[in-house]
Amino acid sequence: MSWVDETGRHEGYVTAVLADGGEPAPRPGGRMPWWACNGADGPRAVGVRGACTCGWRGSATHPVDFGDDEATEGHEAEAGPYADWDGHATAAEGLVPYDVEQLLGALQRRIEELSESRPVTALRIAARVESAAPRYSADAARAARRGLVSWETIGRAFSTSGEAAQDRFARQIAD
Ligand SMILES: [Zn+2]
Repeated sequence: MSWVDETGRHEGYVTAVLADGGEPAPRPGGRMPWWACNGADGPRAVGVRGACTCGWRGSATHPVDFGDDEATEGHEAEAGPYADWDGHATAAEGLVPYDVEQLLGALQRRIEELSESRPVTALRIAARVESAAPRYSADAARAARRGLVSWETIGRAFSTSGEAAQDRFARQIAD
């Protein structure tokens, strides 16, 4: 199984890690899937790591369980090859697009300026931002769920767990 990030520039997958720390050679027509490295007919994986078509490799080696693809790949897990790859794709593409960084920076500078000259106005602006922010978060979480983004990934965007994100948003989204 492989995963593609929102930009389409990163296709993640899980690769076998062999006893010497290396990876199996590709087989004709494509890469060697980790589950094929079971020692029966070629090398045996001692673990797995996240990989990306851009050339990135996860630095962590995770346990391999030949009977459990989900546990090995960790698509819904907070730690594992998928989480490592997701972190890589997010870091590689920047957390937030440049134009949004500019907007947020300009807003912050403007509030700081007004705090000097018109402090009450600055307070009103800060209050507006504060009251609007939860709606941005809930709307984005709702759209992400509609796009089949996992709770774990939503949680990571808020630097929290999938469970915490679900606790926070599930009811608002259902309303
Ligand atoms: Zn990549």
